[in-house]
Amino acid sequence: MRPETTVVHGGGSNEFRAVAPSIHPSTTFERAPDGSHPYGLHYSRDENPTRAAVEQLLASLEGGIGSVAFSSGMAAANAIFATLGSGDHALIPAECYYAVGALGREVFSRWGVDVTAVDMTDLPAVERAMRPSTRLLWIETPSNPTLSVVDIAALADLARRNGAVSAVDNTMATPLLQRPFDHHADVVMHSTTKFLGGHSDLLGGAVVVRDDSALLAEIRRLRTVTGAVPSAFDCWLLQRGIATLGLRIAAASRTAMMLAQELAMHPQVSAVYYPGLPAHPRHAIARRQMRDFGGVLSFEVAGGAERARQVAARMRLFTQATSFGGVHSLVEHRASIEPPGGTTPPGLLRLSIGVEHGEDLRDDVLAALGGTIAEQGERRPCSN
Ligand SMILES: *Cc1c(COP(=O)(O)O)cnc(C)c1O
Repeated sequence: MRPETTVVHGGGSNEFRAVAPSIHPSTTFERAPDGSHPYGLHYSRDENPTRAAVEQLLASLEGGIGSVAFSSGMAAANAIFATLGSGDHALIPAECYYAVGALGREVFSRWGVDVTAVDMTDLPAVERAMRPSTRLLWIETPSNPTLSVVDIAALADLARRNGAVSAVDNTMATPLLQRPFDHHADVVMHSTTKFLGGHSDLLGGAVVVRDDSALLAEIRRLRTVTGAVPSAFDCWLLQRGIATLGLRIAAASRTAMMLAQELAMHPQVSAVYYPGLPAHPRHAIARRQMRDFGGVLSFEVAGGAERARQVAARMRLFTQATSFGGVHSLVEHRASIEPPGGTTPPGLLRLSIGVEHGEDLRDDVLAALGGTIAEQGERRPCSN
């Protein structure tokens, strides 16, 4: 099956020949008279049928032996870091999802796990940063918010040579556009809150394991013990969201590419960050490891932070909000929400492309860049 088919047919099996997945909110499952659990299910913090169905779907999409669903992307990341012990070292990218860095600094440092950052576009620097105690190499590509791209295969091979596990945060690309296991990575992590859920109405995460059944069992055990399980309803919503991922990501990638090309020629725009543009410094790597370039792009408004905030406020179809990957297009002035001292350019706006018509979105961005609030009229409320 191609991934656009797997998203519809790759979930767990169903009773009653129901076409849509069933939802099982039950927390507990009855024992047979002999004390056994005939379906292998006894308590939903361990295992739940609705969750198992979407876990099977995620594992087939990534091409792994299994997956473990969590109540958020950060709970999934936390479980991967929790496989480390005192004295271990982990490498994370210099441009990394903020809370992953915070997890290292604020939590695991207290437990004797050393987490350091390195520029992963610079392979010799990564090699130099490796220590005998390095057990985890954390990869995020494309990154956030500057859509930097790193070479998954080169990094995963380097990790393996040094006895470390490579984990890829595949949230931005999704398995429809990038399959890290095809590039030798060991583990994939997702915030299913973003494109996989796809409707800005659920929080979730997942860990997928390529072939190490002991590691898969350890991650599942960590979830059972620490308890960060998603509800049956959120798992059901996630499976429903994933069914349209192929359509949504194709549409968003098409619009993002068109917008990136338009913005690259715009006099009010000083830089565009999108891996699909041939001018992107890592375009060749993106072409090699991605099927398409995704629904998120960033650009810098000439004139800096104040002007960028004005442009964002003038957009009528793009809602000013954090996050990405939903059916509603979003715009965010990143420097406003990041802690001071960051490296994000002050005039940078990140766009998350939804499923609206591309030309409406383009007109909205161009009008916001060119006109005034009066010309644009009142912004539509985000609830349609
Ligand atoms: C959102 C996000 C996370 C964290 O996921 P939550 O579901 O918000 O906990 C991690 N990595 C990336 C790349 C993300 O975009």
